Amino acid sequence: MGRIAVIGAGMGAMAAAARLAVAGHRVVVYERAQTYGGSVGRVERDGFAFDTGPGLLTLP
Ligand SMILES: Cc1cc2nc3c(=O)[nH]c(=O)nc-3n(C[C@H](O)[C@H](O)[C@H](O)COP(=O)(O)OP(=O)(O)OC[C@H]3O[C@@H](n4cnc5c(N)ncnc54)[C@H](O)[C@@H]3O)c2cc1C
Repeated sequence: MGRIAVIGAGMGAMAAAARLAVAGHRVVVYERAQTYGGSVGRVERDGFAFDTGPGLLTLP
């Protein structure tokens, strides 16, 4: 199996990367931000935390 580069570590790319890895591919995920998640983020300040993305996942 080949080696596959996945660009971005949002939910979409992470789901694709997981499926490819389960199928036996070597997968490398490249993310430009400091952490994974993309739109599924979290901001913490002064002891409070806010989700910056979905509250209810409607994706299949
Ligand atoms: C406020 C808000 C509320 C939402 N509420 C809901 C909800 O209730 N239910 C629901 O189902 N959906 C909701 N969504 C939508 C859902 O969050 C997004 O559709 C989903 O997270 C998108 O995932 P994605 O992987 O396609 O893209 P993204 O999450 O945008 O991920 C893309 C990633 O790729 C990285 N990237 C981009 N370009 C490059 C590059 N050139 N090199 C390296 N990395 C790169 C980015 O930094 C990012 O981490 C909401 C979104 C927002 C913003």
